[in-house]
Amino acid sequence: MRILLIEDEKDIAEFIKISLSTEFYTVDVAYDGERGSFLARTNDYDLIICDYILPLQNGPEVVKEIRQENQHVPIIILSVKSEIDTKINLFNLGVDDYLTKPFRFEELLAHIKAILRRPLKRDNQVLKIDDLTIDVDKHLVKRGRQTITMTRKELSLLEYLIKNRGRVMSRTTIMEHVWDANADPFSNTIESHITNLRRKINLPGKKELIHTVSGRGYKVDLKK
Ligand code: CA
Repeated sequence: MRILLIEDEKDIAEFIKISLSTEFYTVDVAYDGERGSFLARTNDYDLIICDYILPLQNGPEVVKEIRQENQHVPIIILSVKSEIDTKINLFNLGVDDYLTKPFRFEELLAHIKAILRRPLKRDNQVLKIDDLTIDVDKHLVKRGRQTITMTRKELSLLEYLIKNRGRVMSRTTIMEHVWDANADPFSNTIESHITNLRRKINLPGKKELIHTVSGRGYKVDLKK
């Protein structure tokens, strides 16, 4: 799981980053709003934690910019109480949660875990490659007209690869985005899920869509 932390107080930022790292999250830090907004819009984060008062660009402005380009990434706002009292409109801007400063790390961690457990918000999104389609909301996978049943994990893995179509995704990246932090990175979980996925979606006469790139990882594409 990759998290972006936008926080100008260096001590707090450092403390949160170190604490989250011990929980196996990967954390990027931005110390002002402009940089935060830029990183948020140019990287693929699983979650964004954003302070309210920031240099160059305040939290709400940052949120607004992020939401113009990314409707789905969960955002938690950090703020002192008075800011929240006057800014209930944060939720209207598309913030998912907020936490009042000061807070204990365990509290932040609980909020993060709760948010990441929620299914992602999406507009009825259909992913498509060749004649394979995934209706993300309905968890419905089809190859041509044939419906394919798969486990939740297989579905997340396939979704993730299709969203990154044409790009080689390393085992580490897949582990970070599709598996939770407690997964054993050295187990053969990914391989066995890939094998199952291939078996399910490679119906007779259909094009191979999942490619192994030796020593680097996997990619979904129409050709190798
Ligand atoms: Ca601040």
